[in-house]
Amino acid sequence: MTANRVADAHVDVLWRMLGDGAAFHGDSELRASYCRLRRGGVCTQVFALYVPPHRQSGTQLEQVLTCVDLFYREVVRAGQVAPVRSREELRQARERGELAALLSLEGGGCLRGQTALLRVLYDLGVRGVGLTWNDANELADGCREPRGAGLTEAGRQVVREMNRLGMWLDLAHLSDAGMSDVLALMDGPVMASHANARAVHPHPRNLPDEVIRALIRRRGWIGLVFEASFVAPLERASSEDVFRHLDHILDLGGEDCVGFGSDFDGASHPLPGLADAADYAPFAEQVVNRYGRDLGEKILWKNFDRFLTEALPNR
Ligand SMILES: [Zn+2]
Repeated sequence: MTANRVADAHVDVLWRMLGDGAAFHGDSELRASYCRLRRGGVCTQVFALYVPPHRQSGTQLEQVLTCVDLFYREVVRAGQVAPVRSREELRQARERGELAALLSLEGGGCLRGQTALLRVLYDLGVRGVGLTWNDANELADGCREPRGAGLTEAGRQVVREMNRLGMWLDLAHLSDAGMSDVLALMDGPVMASHANARAVHPHPRNLPDEVIRALIRRRGWIGLVFEASFVAPLERASSEDVFRHLDHILDLGGEDCVGFGSDFDGASHPLPGLADAADYAPFAEQVVNRYGRDLGEKILWKNFDRFLTEALPNR
């Protein structure tokens, strides 16, 4: 039996490497180490550039740049992990059987509202941006900010510059007002890298149906997340509950727009049955058995591949 392929839009490996000095290759305790990703069949992985928002803006940028350095020095490895910044690099990674590795910023506090810093990150290979973490910053309010405001003027400028550069915008962690501002303002690719359906499990980190419908309409993408508290009531959440979110998004018409963004190495409550990347192998079997090979493969990796192919620059 050959393992199914899987694409995953969100892990916090770089954050763990920076904080704990964890190794990605070789003997590693990371939930999404190279070995575990490969055992799970992962062929595409987005690595988040996450910084705790309570750090000062200047320190945040330093930390993001240090994580970019870790990515190129300790994650990327010839023959095993290829940095992907374009369609052509994605094609080459596939051809060589390498793990396609992409960078996305989680929380735009480090930009300090400056589009120049966004352009520098783009030049360093960052292809996606989530404007906030849970709190407010110079760009917008996050989903846990009581004020619940949308984009600031600086946030609008950053979104316009992302449009121009051709970066994808990640709605995960953004406030509801921020999500509707982005959907009105952004012409380019929009996705939610790690979020579930609020209609299935009411949590501010999960997406309301109108946002899911809007993402489906504009050929965006939604990555279901395995943080247990976003999946179901914490005391009884299991990998089975992920199918309730998946079925709901499929019911809304999302068969071309849904996949997974695990949050491995970032989740506070790992989900029983989907606690590390190696668990993708048996889970992917379940997905194929439940939905059939064609739809199963779309959910597992082809939908995200389609999204990336449309979102990335040619070269
Ligand atoms: Zn997150």
